[in-house]
Amino acid sequence: MKISVTMLSSYLYCPRKLFLQRVLAVEEPPKESLVLGSLRHEIYDFINRSEEIIVASIKEKISYDELLTTYKTFYSRILREKIINNKSRIKEVNLDIVDVFKRTWPLILNEAEIRSKNILDFIQKYNIYGKELWERLTPKIISEQRVESDRLQLKGIVDRIEVYETRYVPIELKTGRMPKQGVWPGHKIQIAAYAMLLEETFKTKVKEGFVRYLDADETRQIAINPFMKEEIINLVKDVQNLLKSQNLPNYCENKNKCTKCGVRGTCYNEQEVTTLLSEIQ
Ligand code: SF4
Repeated sequence: MKISVTMLSSYLYCPRKLFLQRVLAVEEPPKESLVLGSLRHEIYDFINRSEEIIVASIKEKISYDELLTTYKTFYSRILREKIINNKSRIKEVNLDIVDVFKRTWPLILNEAEIRSKNILDFIQKYNIYGKELWERLTPKIISEQRVESDRLQLKGIVDRIEVYETRYVPIELKTGRMPKQGVWPGHKIQIAAYAMLLEETFKTKVKEGFVRYLDADETRQIAINPFMKEEIINLVKDVQNLLKSQNLPNYCENKNKCTKCGVRGTCYNEQEVTTLLSEIQ
Protein backbone atom coordinates (compact mmCIF):
# COMPACT_ATOMS: atom_id res chain seq x y z
CA MET A 1 0.00 0.00 0.00
CA LYS A 2 1.41 3.38 -1.05
CA ILE A 3 1.87 5.88 1.76
CA SER A 4 1.36 9.61 1.26
CA VAL A 5 4.26 11.88 2.17
CA THR A 6 2.03 13.81 4.58
CA MET A 7 1.39 10.54 6.45
CA LEU A 8 5.12 10.31 7.15
CA SER A 9 5.14 13.70 8.84
CA SER A 10 1.87 12.87 10.66
CA TYR A 11 3.52 9.70 11.96
CA LEU A 12 6.51 11.69 13.19
CA TYR A 13 4.14 14.13 14.89
CA CYS A 14 2.16 11.43 16.76
CA PRO A 15 1.76 7.76 15.68
CA ARG A 16 -1.31 7.46 17.92
CA LYS A 17 -3.08 10.26 16.06
CA LEU A 18 -2.31 8.67 12.69
CA PHE A 19 -3.68 5.34 13.99
CA LEU A 20 -6.85 6.97 15.35
CA GLN A 21 -7.49 8.73 12.05
CA ARG A 22 -6.46 6.11 9.53
CA VAL A 23 -7.21 2.84 11.29
CA LEU A 24 -10.07 3.75 13.62
CA ALA A 25 -11.47 6.34 11.17
CA VAL A 26 -11.73 9.08 13.81
CA GLU A 27 -12.42 12.32 11.98
CA GLU A 28 -10.77 15.57 12.93
CA PRO A 29 -13.28 18.44 12.91
CA PRO A 30 -12.59 20.88 10.07
CA LYS A 31 -9.84 23.26 11.10
CA GLU A 32 -9.20 26.76 9.84
CA SER A 33 -5.70 25.79 8.73
CA LEU A 34 -6.97 22.80 6.73
CA VAL A 35 -9.63 24.82 4.92
CA LEU A 36 -7.14 27.59 4.09
CA GLY A 37 -4.56 25.00 3.05
CA SER A 38 -6.88 23.23 0.64
CA LEU A 39 -8.05 26.55 -0.82
CA ARG A 40 -4.42 27.49 -1.39
CA HIS A 41 -3.77 24.15 -3.11
CA GLU A 42 -6.73 24.67 -5.46
CA ILE A 43 -5.50 28.14 -6.40
CA TYR A 44 -1.91 27.06 -6.99
CA ASP A 45 -3.10 24.17 -9.11
CA PHE A 46 -4.98 26.66 -11.33
CA ILE A 47 -2.03 29.06 -11.41
CA ASN A 48 0.21 26.23 -12.52
CA ARG A 49 -2.10 25.18 -15.31
CA SER A 50 -2.46 28.74 -16.60
CA GLU A 51 1.24 29.61 -16.64
CA GLU A 52 1.88 28.52 -20.22
CA ILE A 53 -0.92 30.77 -21.52
CA ILE A 54 0.47 33.84 -19.71
CA VAL A 55 4.10 33.26 -20.71
CA ALA A 56 3.35 32.38 -24.33
CA SER A 57 1.18 35.52 -24.64
CA ILE A 58 4.20 37.79 -24.04
CA LYS A 59 5.00 38.74 -27.63
CA GLU A 60 7.12 41.84 -27.13
CA LYS A 61 9.16 43.85 -24.64
CA ILE A 62 7.25 44.28 -21.38
CA SER A 63 8.10 46.06 -18.12
CA TYR A 64 8.09 44.39 -14.71
CA ASP A 65 5.09 46.48 -13.62
CA GLU A 66 3.10 45.57 -16.73
CA LEU A 67 3.80 41.87 -16.31
CA LEU A 68 3.05 41.99 -12.60
CA THR A 69 -0.27 43.73 -13.34
CA THR A 70 -1.18 40.95 -15.79
CA TYR A 71 -0.49 38.34 -13.11
CA LYS A 72 -2.24 40.33 -10.37
CA THR A 73 -5.40 40.82 -12.46
CA PHE A 74 -5.52 37.15 -13.34
CA TYR A 75 -4.70 35.85 -9.85
CA SER A 76 -7.12 38.12 -8.00
CA ARG A 77 -9.94 36.87 -10.25
CA ILE A 78 -8.96 33.26 -9.54
CA LEU A 79 -8.74 33.90 -5.82
CA ARG A 80 -12.20 35.50 -5.73
CA GLU A 81 -13.71 32.64 -7.74
CA LYS A 82 -12.16 29.95 -5.55
CA ILE A 83 -13.23 31.69 -2.34
CA ILE A 84 -16.81 31.91 -3.59
CA ASN A 85 -16.77 28.24 -4.61
CA ASN A 86 -15.56 27.32 -1.10
CA LYS A 87 -17.90 29.68 0.74
CA SER A 88 -19.70 27.02 2.76
CA ARG A 89 -16.47 25.33 3.93
CA ILE A 90 -15.06 28.72 4.92
CA LYS A 91 -18.18 29.52 6.94
CA GLU A 92 -18.04 26.07 8.61
CA VAL A 93 -14.81 27.12 10.36
CA ASN A 94 -16.23 30.56 11.20
CA LEU A 95 -14.05 32.51 8.81
CA ASP A 96 -15.13 35.60 6.97
CA ILE A 97 -14.64 35.50 3.19
CA VAL A 98 -13.19 39.03 3.09
CA ASP A 99 -10.65 38.04 5.77
CA VAL A 100 -9.76 34.94 3.79
CA PHE A 101 -9.09 37.12 0.73
CA LYS A 102 -6.90 39.48 2.79
CA ARG A 103 -4.95 36.61 4.36
CA THR A 104 -4.42 34.68 1.13
CA TRP A 105 -3.70 37.56 -1.21
CA PRO A 106 -0.13 38.28 0.07
CA LEU A 107 0.88 34.69 -0.74
CA ILE A 108 -0.60 34.86 -4.22
CA LEU A 109 0.96 38.27 -4.81
CA ASN A 110 4.32 36.84 -3.79
CA GLU A 111 3.83 34.09 -6.39
CA ALA A 112 3.06 36.73 -9.03
CA GLU A 113 6.21 38.68 -8.11
CA ILE A 114 8.45 35.61 -8.23
CA ARG A 115 7.09 34.53 -11.61
CA SER A 116 7.25 38.04 -13.12
CA LYS A 117 10.86 38.52 -12.03
CA ASN A 118 11.86 35.09 -13.25
CA ILE A 119 10.36 35.72 -16.71
CA LEU A 120 11.78 39.24 -17.03
CA ASP A 121 15.29 38.03 -16.09
CA PHE A 122 15.03 35.33 -18.73
CA ILE A 123 13.81 37.73 -21.44
CA GLN A 124 16.65 40.13 -20.66
CA LYS A 125 19.17 37.34 -21.04
CA TYR A 126 17.85 35.66 -24.19
CA ASN A 127 15.55 38.21 -25.85
CA ILE A 128 12.93 35.64 -26.84
CA TYR A 129 9.13 35.83 -26.69
CA GLY A 130 5.91 33.89 -27.16
CA LYS A 131 5.96 30.12 -27.56
CA GLU A 132 9.75 29.99 -27.70
CA LEU A 133 9.95 31.87 -24.40
CA TRP A 134 7.68 29.30 -22.74
CA GLU A 135 9.59 26.36 -24.18
CA ARG A 136 13.02 27.62 -23.13
CA LEU A 137 12.10 29.32 -19.86
CA THR A 138 14.14 28.19 -16.81
CA PRO A 139 13.54 27.76 -14.03
CA LYS A 140 10.07 26.58 -14.92
CA ILE A 141 7.97 26.82 -11.81
CA ILE A 142 5.60 23.92 -11.37
CA SER A 143 3.10 24.01 -8.53
CA GLU A 144 1.11 21.18 -7.00
CA GLN A 145 2.89 18.40 -8.88
CA ARG A 146 1.62 14.87 -8.16
CA VAL A 147 4.38 12.27 -7.83
CA GLU A 148 4.32 8.60 -6.90
CA SER A 149 6.48 5.52 -6.96
CA ASP A 150 5.67 1.80 -6.70
CA ARG A 151 9.26 1.07 -5.75
CA LEU A 152 9.30 3.55 -2.86
CA GLN A 153 5.66 2.83 -1.97
CA LEU A 154 5.18 6.58 -1.71
CA LYS A 155 2.98 9.25 -3.25
CA GLY A 156 2.41 12.95 -2.73
CA ILE A 157 1.89 16.43 -4.12
CA VAL A 158 4.89 18.79 -4.15
CA ASP A 159 3.92 22.41 -3.41
CA ARG A 160 6.40 23.89 -5.87
CA ILE A 161 9.22 22.61 -8.08
CA GLU A 162 11.79 24.78 -9.79
CA VAL A 163 13.09 23.08 -12.90
CA TYR A 164 16.48 24.16 -14.26
CA GLU A 165 16.88 22.10 -17.46
CA THR A 166 17.47 18.69 -15.85
CA ARG A 167 17.77 19.91 -12.23
CA TYR A 168 14.67 19.68 -10.02
CA VAL A 169 14.36 21.56 -6.74
CA PRO A 170 11.38 20.80 -4.46
CA ILE A 171 10.01 23.65 -2.36
CA GLU A 172 7.41 23.30 0.39
CA LEU A 173 5.32 26.34 1.33
CA LYS A 174 4.41 26.42 5.00
CA THR A 175 2.29 28.70 7.11
CA GLY A 176 2.67 29.00 10.89
CA ARG A 177 5.66 29.20 13.20
CA MET A 178 9.21 28.74 11.96
CA PRO A 179 11.90 27.10 14.16
CA LYS A 180 14.78 29.26 15.39
CA GLN A 181 17.16 27.30 13.19
CA GLY A 182 16.73 24.94 10.27
CA VAL A 183 13.30 23.47 9.62
CA TRP A 184 10.80 21.39 11.64
CA PRO A 185 11.54 17.61 11.48
CA GLY A 186 8.28 16.86 9.63
CA HIS A 187 9.15 19.44 6.96
CA LYS A 188 12.63 17.97 6.50
CA ILE A 189 11.12 14.51 6.02
CA GLN A 190 8.66 15.86 3.46
CA ILE A 191 11.42 17.51 1.40
CA ALA A 192 13.59 14.38 1.52
CA ALA A 193 10.64 12.18 0.45
CA TYR A 194 9.73 14.54 -2.40
CA ALA A 195 13.38 14.64 -3.49
CA MET A 196 13.36 10.83 -3.74
CA LEU A 197 10.08 10.86 -5.66
CA LEU A 198 11.35 13.50 -8.09
CA GLU A 199 14.58 11.54 -8.64
CA GLU A 200 12.55 8.46 -9.48
CA THR A 201 9.99 10.27 -11.66
CA PHE A 202 12.38 12.46 -13.66
CA LYS A 203 15.46 10.18 -13.55
CA THR A 204 17.67 12.89 -12.12
CA LYS A 205 19.61 13.65 -8.95
CA VAL A 206 17.98 15.99 -6.43
CA LYS A 207 20.61 17.43 -4.13
CA GLU A 208 18.62 20.03 -2.23
CA GLY A 209 15.20 21.33 -1.39
CA PHE A 210 13.76 24.34 0.41
CA VAL A 211 11.05 25.13 2.92
CA ARG A 212 9.52 28.55 2.49
CA TYR A 213 7.97 29.83 5.74
CA LEU A 214 5.38 32.19 4.34
CA ASP A 215 4.43 34.05 7.53
CA ALA A 216 8.07 34.74 8.37
CA ASP A 217 8.92 35.42 4.70
CA GLU A 218 12.03 33.24 4.97
CA THR A 219 13.30 30.31 2.92
CA ARG A 220 15.50 27.58 4.43
CA GLN A 221 17.62 25.08 2.56
CA ILE A 222 17.83 21.32 3.16
CA ALA A 223 20.73 19.36 1.67
CA ILE A 224 19.64 15.83 0.80
CA ASN A 225 21.93 13.08 2.11
CA PRO A 226 21.87 9.24 2.03
CA PHE A 227 20.92 9.02 5.75
CA MET A 228 17.70 10.92 5.08
CA LYS A 229 16.82 8.52 2.28
CA GLU A 230 17.35 5.57 4.60
CA GLU A 231 15.17 7.27 7.20
CA ILE A 232 12.38 7.68 4.65
CA ILE A 233 12.54 4.01 3.63
CA ASN A 234 12.30 2.96 7.29
CA LEU A 235 9.50 5.42 8.00
CA VAL A 236 7.45 4.09 5.08
CA LYS A 237 7.77 0.57 6.54
CA ASP A 238 6.83 1.82 10.03
CA VAL A 239 3.73 3.60 8.71
CA GLN A 240 2.69 0.58 6.63
CA ASN A 241 3.03 -1.64 9.71
CA LEU A 242 1.04 0.81 11.81
CA LEU A 243 -1.78 0.88 9.27
CA LYS A 244 -1.92 -2.93 9.19
CA SER A 245 -1.76 -3.33 12.97
CA GLN A 246 -4.51 -3.42 15.57
CA ASN A 247 -2.35 -2.00 18.34
CA LEU A 248 -3.05 1.53 19.45
CA PRO A 249 0.27 3.39 19.98
CA ASN A 250 0.96 5.16 23.28
CA TYR A 251 0.16 8.78 23.96
CA CYS A 252 2.79 11.16 22.58
CA GLU A 253 5.27 12.54 25.11
CA ASN A 254 4.89 16.20 24.23
CA LYS A 255 1.64 17.22 25.89
CA ASN A 256 1.65 20.58 24.06
CA LYS A 257 0.76 18.62 20.94
CA CYS A 258 -2.28 17.15 22.71
CA THR A 259 -3.55 20.60 23.67
CA LYS A 260 -3.83 21.54 19.99
CA CYS A 261 -4.92 18.11 18.73
CA GLY A 262 -8.26 17.82 16.94
CA VAL A 263 -8.87 14.18 17.99
CA ARG A 264 -7.98 14.77 21.66
CA GLY A 265 -11.58 14.08 22.79
CA THR A 266 -11.55 10.52 21.42
CA CYS A 267 -7.88 9.91 22.22
CA TYR A 268 -8.39 10.40 25.95
CA ASN A 269 -11.79 8.68 26.07
CA GLU A 270 -10.86 5.11 27.00
CA GLN A 271 -14.35 3.71 26.56
CA GLU A 272 -14.74 5.15 23.07
CA VAL A 273 -11.31 3.92 22.02
CA THR A 274 -12.03 0.40 23.35
CA THR A 275 -15.28 0.28 21.35
CA LEU A 276 -13.52 1.46 18.18
CA LEU A 277 -10.75 -1.09 18.65
CA SER A 278 -13.27 -3.92 19.12
CA GLU A 279 -14.83 -2.99 15.77
CA ILE A 280 -11.61 -3.69 13.84
CA GLN A 281 -10.83 -7.01 15.59
S1 SF4 B 1 -4.25 13.96 21.88
FE1 SF4 B 1 -2.03 13.80 21.98
S2 SF4 B 1 -1.59 11.61 22.10
FE2 SF4 B 1 -3.71 11.85 21.46
S3 SF4 B 1 -3.61 11.74 19.24
FE3 SF4 B 1 -3.55 13.88 19.78
S4 SF4 B 1 -1.38 14.40 19.92
FE4 SF4 B 1 -1.54 12.18 19.94
